[in-house]
Amino acid sequence: MKKCPFCGEEVNDDAVKCIHCGEWFNKDMAPANAAAEKTLPAEYQKFNWGAFLLTWIWGLGNNVYIALLVFLFFVLGFIPIVNLFSGLASLAFCIWLGIKGNELAWKNKSWNSLEHFNEVQRKWAMWGAIITCILIAIIVVGVVLIIVLAAAAASTASY
Ligand SMILES: [Zn+2]
Repeated sequence: MKKCPFCGEEVNDDAVKCIHCGEWFNKDMAPANAAAEKTLPAEYQKFNWGAFLLTWIWGLGNNVYIALLVFLFFVLGFIPIVNLFSGLASLAFCIWLGIKGNELAWKNKSWNSLEHFNEVQRKWAMWGAIITCILIAIIVVGVVLIIVLAAAAASTASY
């Protein structure tokens, strides 16, 4: 074992990169884009629909655990008076996740390349859209069913 000169944690003797702080021991061995690795290029800093629509599921898949905060808003929704604001707050949180999603996912998880990152986020957005459509369809069918059943019950009652 040797000590990392950057953070002081113990690492394997043959390690070329610190597993604790991510610093390369020999800067020449670091990928050319290592410095740029952590900052997402501006053209990729667009709205993340996967994060916005799937929140905590997307968060678990992308190591963005702050997305789990949606459960807090969900719980707050059961508290009287607080629930007047929790709906709005959770919507604001989802929008924030959408705005910050790409940046957070890029930082928190390791990606092969920008293309890989973009492709995976595109799939999340696609699944987010599919699941949202299914949920809306279920709600619409449910509402229609309730109206039809209520109308049927009203017409039998009037006989
Ligand atoms: Zn270190």
